[in-house]
Amino acid sequence: MTKGPRQGGGPWEGVPPEAWGDWRWQFRNRVRTLRQLSAVMGRSVASLAAWGPVMRVYPVAITPYYLSLMDLADEGDPLRRQCFPDPRELDQALGGEEDPLGEGEAMPVPGLIHRYPDRALAIATSTCALHCRHCNRKRLWTAKGSGGARGRLEAMVDHVAGTPAIREVIVSGGDPLLLAEGLLDWFLGALRAIPHVEVLRIGSRVPVTLPMRVTPGLCAMLKRHRPLWFNTQFNHPREITAEAAEACERLLSAGIPVSNQSVLLRGVNDDYGTMRDLLYGLERISVRPYYLFQCDPVRGTGHFRTELWTGLGIMEQLWRNVSGLCLPRYVLDCPGGRGKIPLQPFSLLPECGGEGKHSFDKTGHMD
Ligand SMILES: *Cc1c(COP(=O)(O)O)cnc(C)c1O
Repeated sequence: MTKGPRQGGGPWEGVPPEAWGDWRWQFRNRVRTLRQLSAVMGRSVASLAAWGPVMRVYPVAITPYYLSLMDLADEGDPLRRQCFPDPRELDQALGGEEDPLGEGEAMPVPGLIHRYPDRALAIATSTCALHCRHCNRKRLWTAKGSGGARGRLEAMVDHVAGTPAIREVIVSGGDPLLLAEGLLDWFLGALRAIPHVEVLRIGSRVPVTLPMRVTPGLCAMLKRHRPLWFNTQFNHPREITAEAAEACERLLSAGIPVSNQSVLLRGVNDDYGTMRDLLYGLERISVRPYYLFQCDPVRGTGHFRTELWTGLGIMEQLWRNVSGLCLPRYVLDCPGGRGKIPLQPFSLLPECGGEGKHSFDKTGHMD
């Protein structure tokens, strides 16, 4: 586990630990401009000029905490890659669409995606602590009117209340933990009060990018809305720091199971050793690996996409070598709103038979 905090260096030299550990301070001091990037890197603004056009299309936001985990000078650092601008984000030749999953067309009311019969996903806010460069909702970063306004959330509640088929609501974003706490409390409570809503789920990367936001007070509030499940997104073993582990522990202690959805990212976690270490690390902190996503064909993320065979090869090695508790399901979210499908390595059955020496009947009996 990475030890932290490491607030001693760079522009945050001398920041008192109380400020460093305060999520509001972290949020206020996010690095968002070229000038701030140049300051943290100790480089001139001019030398970073190639990032300017990228940042105008896809703004940068990085918490001091997350910055402290990476080697700023190493372009290949897997954490740096996830949050630093890259000119390839503007390379149209890498393909991709704004909204390949057709989420915009699956919204009965603005911000509520209803694609699977029994589950709906609420984009409760478009704000995030950190802008992941591989985000599949990059199109919303600069969208107006997608914020967490009470009226929008009320319209979502009304729709869910009038749709008895919905038994689970996933509150996502953006990052729902950046809504005002009282508003999130109200939203969860309003959903919980609907008789056919049996389960709530939160999708948030805050335990990874701003773990100090997971305060005891927040956990006490969330606890009142159980059964509540929590999905986060660790993509690299170095993100499993003491602070992140403590944030997950506070959720777990409140009776909120925490699962993980990673994205398979070229140059970040697209090799067996890194993925194994990530999954082992998650198992150690009682966070259950749930999904490993093939990176969606979203415009501006092409440089992160791997071939399907890369993911299948990693999955096959994982199947053979690691604890079943560590195994995520590798899934592809199909374009056009057809939903997620699991991708499996080829069946191991013939191999169990020992190079064709045995055969199986239809029920799996081996001769
Ligand atoms: C992924 C997703 C869900 C949840 O799917 P699970 O397989 O239950 O995790 C629900 N709605 C939408 C729109 C999604 O993209």
